[in-house]
Amino acid sequence: MSQCGEGGSFQPRDVVDLLSAGHEIACHTYSHLRASNCSLARFKADLDMNSKAFRDLSGKSMNNFAFPYGVVTPEAMTLVSERFDTTRGNQSGPNSMRQPSRYLKTFKLYETRNDWKNIMIVMNNAKEFHEWIIFYTHDVQANPSRFGCTPQLLEKTVDLAIKLDLKILSVQEAWALQHFVNPHA
Ligand SMILES: [Zn+2]
Repeated sequence: MSQCGEGGSFQPRDVVDLLSAGHEIACHTYSHLRASNCSLARFKADLDMNSKAFRDLSGKSMNNFAFPYGVVTPEAMTLVSERFDTTRGNQSGPNSMRQPSRYLKTFKLYETRNDWKNIMIVMNNAKEFHEWIIFYTHDVQANPSRFGCTPQLLEKTVDLAIKLDLKILSVQEAWALQHFVNPHA
């Protein structure tokens, strides 16, 4: 949330607009902390600051968490597991509906990786093996950074999901569905 407001990447109004359009906003710490580089007390205080900033803006709480830089420590994992339904770093892979885990895997949607063939395999596998996938990227623009992608790649990925009749859900919706599907959850 430190990127919200004057001089940041987005404005307070964007948060409200995204939520009312049905998007989910998850926690990523307030200051984009690397878990391995700070004390647990600092990490905890930063999570509290983020929750407060988000609640002040939206009146809501955040249910899921992504570790900045994908860096996970056991202590920080214990802490976020107590606060959020799911967490993720940047471990690559699909998520199983049959053997649900609260620690989720992801796939990068980065233009620089140039791996459309792999994206197609991953999505076809999701359909066949009853898996769900989290794609993540950063900036979406014509000339993306090495962590981003073009609008074309994002659209192509969404189009393929529609063609394969995959459900497109927020993490919270997918998590709820997974819980419902798994009788042991
Ligand atoms: Zn980040």
